[in-house]
Amino acid sequence: MKTDKDVKDYIRTIVDFPHEGILFRDVTTLFADPRGFRMAVDRMLHPYAGQRIDKVAGLEARGFILGGAVAHQLGCGFVPVRKKGKLPAATISESYTLEYGEAVIEVHDDAIQAGETVLIVDDLLATGGTAEAGIKLVERLGGEILGCAFIIDLPDLGGRKRLEAMGMDVHALCA
Ligand code: IMP
Repeated sequence: MKTDKDVKDYIRTIVDFPHEGILFRDVTTLFADPRGFRMAVDRMLHPYAGQRIDKVAGLEARGFILGGAVAHQLGCGFVPVRKKGKLPAATISESYTLEYGEAVIEVHDDAIQAGETVLIVDDLLATGGTAEAGIKLVERLGGEILGCAFIIDLPDLGGRKRLEAMGMDVHALCA
């Protein structure tokens, strides 16, 4: 079947989730479509074609789904960056600010070796707090971050500027 649908057309918006006044971008409809999912993964990889990437670091939870597919396609390793208390071996952690309160994410302390090149992957960039914490974890292990790849960037929330101010190369497929 021929279709001109773009990545954005597979994403639905849920009104008032998880709180009143929030427009939640729901990428499960993109993941559920074979053409949409493949298109998203291929386009996330595209800016990094020809570069040596040792590890993809995926941010919990949708970054696991995307990051696993990206890592498979690149033929490299995958590293989960998880919420506090989920990883079984020794970890390092970073806290970051949420709209209400704080959150902590962790990575295994042996997941990335010094000098390895890393691509950070998540579904959506909003304030950039989550990605910034993930970047700090990878850098503390000595990883060299080649870029941060997202499906959606919400530019009004400032995440891209925040990551670019850290010297990051930021790519998103749609706004
Ligand atoms: P940030 O830390 O403010 O940039 O928020 C990004 C994180 O929150 C990512 O891990 C996203 O998965 C999640 N997130 C925030 N808003 C949405 C949304 O509308 N849809 C899906 N995920 C979201």
